Amino acid sequence: MNQGHTRPVNCSNCNRMVPKDKCIKKFTVRDMIDASSKEDIKAVQIYDGFIIPKTYNKLTYCISCAIHARIVRSRAREDRKIRNTRKPFEPRKEDKEAKEAATA
Ligand SMILES: [Zn+2]
Repeated sequence: MNQGHTRPVNCSNCNRMVPKDKCIKKFTVRDMIDASSKEDIKAVQIYDGFIIPKTYNKLTYCISCAIHARIVRSRAREDRKIRNTRKPFEPRKEDKEAKEAATA
């Protein structure tokens, strides 16, 4: 908003160039190993309490891919212009409760 121009980014799926403020961003945290293999690895590992690393990926999608992958749904023509659909920041429930307990 009020920027005139934003840096283009590539779509994670099809590599199309999309303006950064238009692309659909998705942050995914996944285990490196799937749940079924995790059991087998746990059985043979030497170290106790070893945490299997996770992959942290920031994915950006073009509109076509985001709709195709059902990350977003098609909206009315006017509604499509709203690029930031994220909810306003709200502290986590535990943090909120802790803060209230500290002030009370
Ligand atoms: Zn794409």
